[in-house]
Amino acid sequence: MKLDDHTYRRIVDNLYEGLYFVNTDRVITYWNRAAERISGFNAAEVVGKRCHDNILTHIDANGNQLCMGLCPLAATMQDQELREAEVFLHHKDGHRVPVAVRTSPLTNELGEVIGGIEIFTDISNREANLLRIQELEELAFLDPLTRLANRAYMEKELATRLEESRRYGMSFGVLFVDVDHFKTFNDTWGHETGDQVLKVVADTMTSNSRPFDSFGRWGGEEFLGIIRNTDREGLTVSGERLRRAIEGAYILQGDDKLTVTVTLGGAIFRSGESATDLVRRADEALYAGKRAGRNRLTLAAE
Ligand code: GH3
Ligand code: MG
Ligand code: MG
Repeated sequence: MKLDDHTYRRIVDNLYEGLYFVNTDRVITYWNRAAERISGFNAAEVVGKRCHDNILTHIDANGNQLCMGLCPLAATMQDQELREAEVFLHHKDGHRVPVAVRTSPLTNELGEVIGGIEIFTDISNREANLLRIQELEELAFLDPLTRLANRAYMEKELATRLEESRRYGMSFGVLFVDVDHFKTFNDTWGHETGDQVLKVVADTMTSNSRPFDSFGRWGGEEFLGIIRNTDREGLTVSGERLRRAIEGAYILQGDDKLTVTVTLGGAIFRSGESATDLVRRADEALYAGKRAGRNRLTLAAE
């Protein structure tokens, strides 16, 4: 069956997955509607640009910039092999969105490569997250600026995790997160831009955590994450993933990319301790990280 262009375009436009084409110069030639939804960039902003022209800037789980050499789509255009990867893309609002991507070459009738195709899908559980925000709002547990849970909610959540650990022996940990040199950031860029950055940090937390973990605003530029069913190793993976994602996020102010880093302290719950003691240990680990130079994760002793 041969579809006419219009029908074909309608199908592609309405795919659930993001889809885009590039030519051999890696200039984006097509950008579908789901790609707009997932990235926040509409086709008019993206078509005609190259992927590293300040727009998508994919990074991998280790924080490597993919546009400059490890780009799966560029590799596919070279060897015509399909590739799959989990990467992060830069959302127009500043935060990083974890996406699964699959790339394939685009060839002409002679089999020559004339471009590449990438499909990508959001793996950040956004819909579950919208529901969560609604529930929190109804119960007055929502922090209005960041749209994260507020401190009261996190304290309730900690109590639940303590009980769960007591009853079922489930292990969990917390991450205490503090934005680095935020006073200087505010002084340099203004309080409103500071607020915008807090939102980006919060969105990055949401989109880089698993649905069963929760992050909340503890106060000011401090956040708390509760990571369930984890040990020191798992807490390290979660904390490092978050640290790198925040380091890689940015907001655009004209041509300037404004970034912040965070310092994190982590602690695994010790049987018998109070929530206050657990958070205090994470906070102490955080301050050790601040003294050691910031932008790092430090775990409290077991
Ligand atoms: P450090 O790396 O040691 O954490 O340095 P810091 O400057 O982040 O630490 P400090 O605790 O001295 O400053 C925190 C700053 O965060 C001061 C305050 O103005 C700012 N801040 C707190 N809440 C908000 C907020 O809701 N919006 C904005 N824009 N700034 C905030
Ligand atoms: Mg602070
Ligand atoms: Mg700070």
